[in-house]
Amino acid sequence: MNNKRIFLSLSQQSGFEEKYIQTALNDSWITTGGPNVDEFENKLEGFFEKNKSIVALNSGTAAIHLALILLGVKLGDEVICQSMTFAASANPILYQGAIPVFVDSELDTWNICPEFLEIAIKDRIARGKKPKAIIAVHLYGMPYKIDEIFSIANRYGIPIIEDSAAALGSSYKGKKCGTFGDYGVLSFNGNKIITTSSGGVLVCDSQGLKEKAIFYATQSRDNASHYEHSKIGYNYRISNICAGIGCGQMEVLDKNVTLRRAMHDFYKKVFEDIDEVSVFEEPNEDYFSNYWLSSILIEDDCEKKINREALTLAFEEANIETRPLWKPMHLQPLFVEYPYYGEKIAESLFEKGLCLPSGSNLTNEDKNRIEEVIKTFFK
Ligand SMILES: *Cc1c(COP(=O)(O)O)cnc(C)c1O
Repeated sequence: MNNKRIFLSLSQQSGFEEKYIQTALNDSWITTGGPNVDEFENKLEGFFEKNKSIVALNSGTAAIHLALILLGVKLGDEVICQSMTFAASANPILYQGAIPVFVDSELDTWNICPEFLEIAIKDRIARGKKPKAIIAVHLYGMPYKIDEIFSIANRYGIPIIEDSAAALGSSYKGKKCGTFGDYGVLSFNGNKIITTSSGGVLVCDSQGLKEKAIFYATQSRDNASHYEHSKIGYNYRISNICAGIGCGQMEVLDKNVTLRRAMHDFYKKVFEDIDEVSVFEEPNEDYFSNYWLSSILIEDDCEKKINREALTLAFEEANIETRPLWKPMHLQPLFVEYPYYGEKIAESLFEKGLCLPSGSNLTNEDKNRIEEVIKTFFK
């Protein structure tokens, strides 16, 4: 049997990228900005079918950073952030010299918990500082509790940065993820549902905010014939070549969502009769996940030697990549000193959770190999 490594989430060519890249090369548009960038932004604006303005950048992390800047987050300000996430959600808070305040997850969506969010807001206000923003994440493509979180944020007048980096193609009550927050963020790094090799976008509510974001993303050049600067600038615009890849990838977005969702169905079926495992899934029909990464929770069973580590090893022996869930930020050495509101939900998810191969390129043979490991392990 073929023993080629099966990866968690690999990028994949659609075949439509080359014509955009070739045009850029032919026209010597080998720079940041350019026709592919405009087209990529237009395609995304069309995808969102709403009055949203899209700014294409060189990473999702850059988009989160710009959102904080546009919301006026400065030295010493506090920003609430979901603890259970990738470090890129929280690092830009530190870039601004601001203070992250971490909040636990709830068990339905694994995302920011409304109860602890409100407790955190009340306590920070009581201590003298109202948080400047909330960073809420659609973990692994699963929408967070949008209605509950927005109702709290609106009550206290705190803007939301929606980290939709993993959730392009997901939606809540029929509305697309990325369009709920004051700012939305998408990522197109190499393992996301579509890729530009590295890239991201900031979703803004108006053309004016888009222009402001582009100003900061292109070194904050004031209006003058020479280079004049009165604000700190950044080099965050996407390259015209990468945007060309994005234009081609947009053609297969819907297909990739369908294929990732099919991987989730595959795991549902494989784990159907395995009591120790629960597959992460939409809490009800309001939620539509792109299932960027299919994930499971494994209950320890000492007698049968069943636990996450043992299953990880079994996959590794078959040359199949898996990965524990994100280690919560409040447990990371970088962030331990910052405030945290919650109990141990995120922590227990981290201890029991595993992400499984979820790419849109997995073959039937790959699936058979994955199923074989699972069936043998839980026999
Ligand atoms: C991928 C990811 C990011 C960062 O995006 P980059 O494009 O890699 O900078 C941020 N947040 C989450 C939740 C992600 O999964």
